[in-house]
Amino acid sequence: MGWVAVRVLLAIAATLLGGWIGFTVSDSSPVVAALTGAGCAAAAISSTDLARGYRLLRWLRGSQETPAPRDAGLWGELAYRVERSLRMREREIAHERTRLSQFLDGIEASPNGVLLADANHQIDWCNAVAADHFGLDPQRDRGQPLTNLIRAPAFVSYLQSGRYEEGVTFANPRAAGTLAVIVRPYAEGQLLVLSQDITERERADAMRRDFVANVSHEIRTPLTVLAGFVETLNGAKLTEAERKRVLELMQQQTDRMQALVGDLLTLARLEGSPRPPPDQWVDLDGLLARVESDARVLSAGRHSIELTSGTGAQLAGAEAELLSAIGNVVSNAVRYTPEGGRIDVSWSTRADGRGVIEVRDTGIGIAREHIPRIVERFYRVDASRARDTGGTGLGLSIVKHVMQRHGGELEIESSPGQGSSFRLVLPSARVRQRPSKARPAQALAA
Ligand code: ADP
Repeated sequence: MGWVAVRVLLAIAATLLGGWIGFTVSDSSPVVAALTGAGCAAAAISSTDLARGYRLLRWLRGSQETPAPRDAGLWGELAYRVERSLRMREREIAHERTRLSQFLDGIEASPNGVLLADANHQIDWCNAVAADHFGLDPQRDRGQPLTNLIRAPAFVSYLQSGRYEEGVTFANPRAAGTLAVIVRPYAEGQLLVLSQDITERERADAMRRDFVANVSHEIRTPLTVLAGFVETLNGAKLTEAERKRVLELMQQQTDRMQALVGDLLTLARLEGSPRPPPDQWVDLDGLLARVESDARVLSAGRHSIELTSGTGAQLAGAEAELLSAIGNVVSNAVRYTPEGGRIDVSWSTRADGRGVIEVRDTGIGIAREHIPRIVERFYRVDASRARDTGGTGLGLSIVKHVMQRHGGELEIESSPGQGSSFRLVLPSARVRQRPSKARPAQALAA
C-alpha cells in the first residue's frame, strides 16, 4: 500500500504547487489564479490516470498476448497483478489441457471401446475403438442420441431399462461378431459405455465346447461297444470261435480308444510346450526309415510304397513331433488308398530354400469343399469310413499344429477318385544338408 501514501502526497503536492504558481504569477486576482493553478494540476494528474487506465483497459480488451502496460504507481500495480493472475490462469489451463489430452490418449490406447454420453443419452465423446465397434464418427455423431445410432434391440432395451449392474451382449452391427457392452452411470446422470469385441472369445468357447462334446462322443462309442461285448461274454454261451471273434472286436475298440487318448495327449503336449528348438538337427533319412516300417506294417503288402532315402537332409526341430507329422500323413495315405494303390514319399527343396516332404497317394481323394476343413479336429469327410480305417479324426490337426510350431505349413492337393498330395513345407532356416558325406537319393521300392 506504499503507493497510496505516495500518490496522495503527490496529488496534494501537485495541487499546492499549481495553486502556488497561480498565486505568484497573478497580481490582480491571486486567489482565482491559485485555484485555477490547483485545478490545472489536479486535471493533469487525472488525465495521466485516465490515460494509464485507458491503456490498461485496451490491453484487457485485447488478447493479452503482449505484456501489460508497465506504468508506475496504482495503474502499474493493477496491471501487474491482473497480468500475473491471467498468466497463472493460462498456465493452469494449459496444464489441465495437457493432462486432459494425456488422459484421452490413455483412453484412446485402450483395447476396449469407451464412450461418454450425457444425461439425455447423447454422445459426448468416444474413442476410436468404440467408434469402430458401433460404426460411429466421433466428430459428426457428437450430440446424437445413442439409440439413434446403435439400434440393436438388446442394447436399446438395456439402455432404456436403467439397470446397469450387468452388461449386455449383442451382435456387432458393424461386423459379423459379438459385442459385450456395460454401462456405468457417473456424475449427474452421465453414462460411461464400455464395449468389448468378444467374437474371438465366443468362437474359442464354442470350439472348446464342441471339442469336449466330440471327445466324449468318440470315447463313449467304443465304450458302449465294449460294454455290449462284456455282456455277451458274461451271458450267452459262445463257441470258442465266437469267443475269439468277440475278443478280437474288443481288442479293436480298445486300440481305438488308445489311439484317441494318445492323439489327445499329443495335442495337449503340442499346445503346452515351448516352440521346437531352431538348432537341434534331426536326420530326415532316419525319420523316413521309421515311418516306412510303420507304413509297411499298416499296409500289410496291399500297396506299393516308395520312400526317398539318402537325402542327406537335416531338419531343425522336435524329432518326436516331426516323426508324428510325417507318420500321420503317410498312415492316412495307406488308410485312404484302396488295395493295389501306390504311395510315394519324396523330399525336395524349393528355390527359396524351403524343404518339402511330399506324400502322394492314388487313393480315394478328397472333394474340394472338404479340403480346408480336414485339418479341423474330428472333421472327417466320411465318418463311417474313417472309423473303419481306425482314424481318430485328430491326425491332420496334429500335423498342422506341428508344422505351425516349426514355422512351416501343410499344403494339400486332392481330387476325388484320383488321389491326394500332402506337402509338409519347412522354412529354409530349419533345413540344411548333413555337414558330412551326402549320398545320392535313391528310391526303396516296396
Ligand atoms: P482320421 O483319423 O479320420 O484319418 P485325419 O485328421 O487324419 O483324421 O484326417 C481327416 C480326414 O481327412 C479323414 O477322415 C479323411 O476323410 C480325410 N483324409 C485324410 N488323409 C486323406 C487321404 N490321404 N486321402 C483321402 N482322404 C484323406
